[in-house]
Amino acid sequence: MLTLNELTGKVALPSEIDHALKMGFDLAISISGGKDSDAMARLLHHMRFHQARGWNGRIILMHAHLGRAEHQITLQYIARFANQLGLPLHVVDGGDLVDVMKARKLKLEAQGKHAPFWPSAQARYCTSTCKRDKLSAFLRHWSGKTGRVICAIGLRAAESTTRAQKSIFQPREGVNTLSRIAYDWLPVHHFTTEEIWNALGYSLDQLQALQAQFKGMAPHEVFRSSFKAHPAYGLGNTRLSCGLCIFGNLGNLHNGASQNPEVYREYVQLEIESGYAFQPQRWLGDVAPELLTPEMQIAFQRAKAQPPKQHSPQSPLSIPQQLPLF
Ligand code: SF4
Repeated sequence: MLTLNELTGKVALPSEIDHALKMGFDLAISISGGKDSDAMARLLHHMRFHQARGWNGRIILMHAHLGRAEHQITLQYIARFANQLGLPLHVVDGGDLVDVMKARKLKLEAQGKHAPFWPSAQARYCTSTCKRDKLSAFLRHWSGKTGRVICAIGLRAAESTTRAQKSIFQPREGVNTLSRIAYDWLPVHHFTTEEIWNALGYSLDQLQALQAQFKGMAPHEVFRSSFKAHPAYGLGNTRLSCGLCIFGNLGNLHNGASQNPEVYREYVQLEIESGYAFQPQRWLGDVAPELLTPEMQIAFQRAKAQPPKQHSPQSPLSIPQQLPLF
């Protein structure tokens, strides 16, 4: 297993970013509670405080929180993580994503628009509006009118072809101005999943052994153990952010539903009312039907069998169109 020192040698560090940090640029590390941003934070903390790099600017953690859509334990977990690193944590209110989705549904219906309201790869407002824009507003405020700031983001190329095409660093749109300099930087862009877990202190075999040990436990019990990552990983998740994510696989969705059945039922109710599936190829109502009331189960089967209300007679499973959020 690679050590933190060895792993810092793999961090993507363009000379422009290294130079900027040596010139005293501030470093804002964006964390979600997921393994990639946690690993990135540990690595950058190590480079800043345990290696002679001459990075002298301020360093903080920042997190955009999406209310009930997040795992219930995420805020607690993130607060403890920041405390362990000894870094200031700024939690930015991204709005309650459950309510944001409901508002979008109502808005589209009122406008008579025939399109799904769920976020999707084509209309990813859950990230752009609720997270990125809110964090940009925070960065503008935190860095000031003439600030110099680098925003570190834990995106990895291995996650998707879109992410693989991202530049390692670029000016941050919405923060960078004529008087303020702001960059986005992707330090762990080329990291493998195994290297990410190594940065958190585990080999993949150790992780698997711990997951077997935690099987059947509640998130707060895993939280109270010595496990060093978000409890959802201990319970088998492969990725993490919202409890129920538009990109989640069946296992992650099932975990999210069991850990937050109230929100799961709210989402299924939206599928019932709209006739649109949560994901283009998957209904949430099929993920954990045992968590639905008998009445909901009947209503869900009925909704699935019918074309979406107030929508064109196209398949409810059609790919969503890009529409403005509000
Ligand atoms: S975790 Fe998924 S649903 Fe939540 S903001 Fe990210 S992409 Fe959207």
